[in-house]
Amino acid sequence: MSLRTRQILNHLSHQAESTQPKTMSVENVTLASGHKMPLVGFGLWKVPADKAADIVYNAIKQGYRLFDGAYDYQNEKEAGQGIKRAIDEGLVKREDVFVTTKLWNNYHKREHALQMAKAQNEAWGLGYIDLYLIHFPIALPYIEPEKLRYPGWWMDAEQKTIETAKVPLHETWKALEEVVDAGIARSIGVSNSQGQTIYDILTYARHPISALQIEHHPYLVQPGLIDLAQENKIAVTAYSSFGPQSFLELPPAFRERPQQVPLLFEAEPVKKAADRTGKTPAQVLLRWSTQRRIAVIPKSNNVGRLQQNLEVTNFDLTEDEIKAISALDKGLRFNDPGFYLHKPLRIFA
Ligand code: NAD
Repeated sequence: MSLRTRQILNHLSHQAESTQPKTMSVENVTLASGHKMPLVGFGLWKVPADKAADIVYNAIKQGYRLFDGAYDYQNEKEAGQGIKRAIDEGLVKREDVFVTTKLWNNYHKREHALQMAKAQNEAWGLGYIDLYLIHFPIALPYIEPEKLRYPGWWMDAEQKTIETAKVPLHETWKALEEVVDAGIARSIGVSNSQGQTIYDILTYARHPISALQIEHHPYLVQPGLIDLAQENKIAVTAYSSFGPQSFLELPPAFRERPQQVPLLFEAEPVKKAADRTGKTPAQVLLRWSTQRRIAVIPKSNNVGRLQQNLEVTNFDLTEDEIKAISALDKGLRFNDPGFYLHKPLRIFA
């Protein structure tokens, strides 16, 4: 291990504290806001609204404490109902559960961001949102929330055209700071953002950037971006930790890239580490992140997988295993509106 890697690991291990037994969702990361966020959570993208309440309630029973939602996922109200049921039954208290949700691109103007934060908070029905993120650092024209259809990218479902709106990101960030001042959200952050956006927000942030949520898996490692975030005490959350897997379930435009590469579950260094540790390839992929203090939010509707996805902090990969898995890096991004939209939005260019 290089000195630098060891320094980062030492620094980060001070930020993580054990609060639960090793077999459960073990550790928290302290955010720059001072609040704590679990290192393992449950992702709500593609969870059908009519099943979300039961799935979330059962996930809490299994030990999940972090739920990752978004306006775009169209299941906030139902996910909130699942959490509320668990609270009403005394399984957990509100403060034991961490809710992340996100502001969609059509609501970047100050008044719309404030309106959406309030409405989303009411939909969850839990008093406050723990972490509110700007979903993508790009503004689209306002659409009445009732008229927005999943996936929110398309302005016109027939013609598949898309336009941007003239809203600078500092307006949106300052609106999110007002959301914190109003007690609606406790921490704020960004998603799908690159170094330039982070450097820019750091120049005017009154409330800290607490978190950065990015696509992060061995085909898209982005070590510089992770260093930048962690050096600035911005907690990193990895999404789509299993790489191509999640995107193979989507319409053809999204499947084009993931179909061109082998599944990460079958990658040699992942399988080798799974054999050595007696864990599944999925657990190895999640541990590859959590061992570097990067939070994970895998999604599954299957009870057995839910359990294994939660148990990803109680074993260790060797430094060589982490390096070999990271060496699979192809700079390959699956969630790229510069690729899958008919009129590309090249936000990662
Ligand atoms: P994921 O990496 O969690 O993969 C989900 C897929 O993997 C599903 O097909 C699931 O059935 C399968 N799977 C889950 N557990 C498994 C296991 N143990 N073994 C084998 N297969 C397993 O992908 P995701 O849903 O794209 O990402 C997770 C979460 O991240 C989302 O639900 C969402 O909350 C968040 N997310 C955020 C953004 C963003 O723009 N900020 C984008 C994508 C996802």
